[in-house]
Amino acid sequence: MSEIEHREVLIVGAGPGGSSAARRLAEADIDTLVIERREVVGNPAQCGECIPLMGEMVGTFPSIADDAWLVDQFDVPNRIIAQRLEWMRIFSPKMREYSFELDCISAHRLQFDGWLADRAIESGAEIRTSCELRNVSTRGERDIYVTNQGRFTADHVIDASGSLAHVARLRGIGKRPQDQLPTIYAQVAGDLPASFDIFLGSIAPGGYAWIIPKGNGVANIGLGMLTSKIKEPLKRTLDGFIEDLGVRLLSYGGGWIPLAGPVKTAVTDNVLAVGDAAGLVMPSNGGGIGTAMVSGKYAADSIVANRRSGQSLSEYDKMLERALRKPLRISTRSKKLFQLFCRGNFTTEVAMRFLGTGGIQRAVECHRPLYIL
Ligand SMILES: Cc1cc2nc3c(=O)[nH]c(=O)nc-3n(C[C@H](O)[C@H](O)[C@H](O)COP(=O)(O)OP(=O)(O)OC[C@H]3O[C@@H](n4cnc5c(N)ncnc54)[C@H](O)[C@@H]3O)c2cc1C
Repeated sequence: MSEIEHREVLIVGAGPGGSSAARRLAEADIDTLVIERREVVGNPAQCGECIPLMGEMVGTFPSIADDAWLVDQFDVPNRIIAQRLEWMRIFSPKMREYSFELDCISAHRLQFDGWLADRAIESGAEIRTSCELRNVSTRGERDIYVTNQGRFTADHVIDASGSLAHVARLRGIGKRPQDQLPTIYAQVAGDLPASFDIFLGSIAPGGYAWIIPKGNGVANIGLGMLTSKIKEPLKRTLDGFIEDLGVRLLSYGGGWIPLAGPVKTAVTDNVLAVGDAAGLVMPSNGGGIGTAMVSGKYAADSIVANRRSGQSLSEYDKMLERALRKPLRISTRSKKLFQLFCRGNFTTEVAMRFLGTGGIQRAVECHRPLYIL
C-alpha cells in the first residue's frame, strides 16, 4: 500500500471551477492540490466554447459587479480570444429573427482552461494531470481519495469534477440530475455568421441548435435536445443541419449539460461542490463556464474564512444564494415553461412572437420573461 499524502485542500477537476478555486486558495497561501484526469487540461473540449465576459455575467448576476477578483478572473487576454461575440440572434422555426447584444467571446477551451490553470499554478497551486479519482473510502473519521497516482486525505475537498459530480453525489450533495441534456457538436469551416446564432423548433425539440463562430471561417455547430424527443442518433440530426449550411466538417464532440437547476445545498462536512457538480448551469441557455468560475471563487473564500476564523463552511451556500441561485431558479422555470409550451413548431412560433425580443432576451439571461411569470 502506498503512503497517504495529506493536503490542506484537494480539488477534483481542473475545469474553470476547479482552477478558479485553486488560484484563490493559493493566493491565500493555502496548500492546494488539483487532480485532473485529463493528460492536458481542457483537452478534449466538450463545449460550445462561448465564454461570458464580466459585462454578461453582471447582467445576469448583478451582485458580483463589485468583486475586483472576479473582474480580474474574467479579464481574458487577447491571445485567448478567438472571436468577440457581441450579438446573439435567435431564430424561430419560420426563421423569424430576434436579436440582442452580448458581452461574450469564443475561445478554444484547451487554451482558456489552460490559461486558468496557469494562473492557479503561478499563484502556488499544484495541478497533477493524468490523475483520476477512482474511489473514496472511509477510514475512521477520514475520507481517503484513491487515484491512479496514489491516495490522498485533505482538510477540505472541492468537487469540481463537472456534471458527474463524483464526490458530491457520494456525499449526498444533490442527486444525479435526471434532466441532463445530451448534446453533440462539430467544428466546421465555411462561410459563417459573426453572431452567436440559436435555432429553436423541430431542429432540436425541447432544446436548441447553435452556431458559435470562432474566427477565421471556423465555427462550432451543435445541438442538444430532450432525451424523450430523440428519434434518431443525434449525429445524424447534426449531419443534416451541417449539410443544409453547406460547410466543411472538421471534427465532432459532445457531452451532457446538467439542466435541472442548482442543488439545494452545495456543502456537506468538508466537501464543497462547484460549477456543474453543484448544478450551477443556466438552464435557459446551457452556459456554465461563468458560474463555475464564480462558485469556485466563493468556495475558496469560505474555506479561507473557515481556516482563519472558524467561520462555518455553510457560508458558501449563503454566498451562492445571494449571488447565483435566484437567477438560476428563474432560468430553470423558464426552461420548464419552454419545454411545456413549445412542443412543436407552431406553438414555438406563437410563444416567441408573444414574448418578443425583450421577453426572449430576458429568458435567455435568466430574468423573468414576463413580469407575471
Ligand atoms: C456540448 C456542450 C456545450 C457547452 N457549451 C457551453 C458554452 O458555449 N458556454 C458555456 O458557458 N458553457 C457551455 N457548456 C457548459 C460548460 O462546459 C460547463 O458548465 C463548464 O465547463 C463547467 O465547468 P466545471 O469546472 O464545473 O466543470 P468541467 O469544465 O466539466 O471540468 C471538470 C473537470 O474535472 C475533470 N474530472 C472529471 N472527473 C474526474 C475524476 N474522476 N478525477 C479527476 N478529474 C476529473 C474533467 O476531466 C474536467 O477537466 C457546454 C457543455 C457541453 C456538454
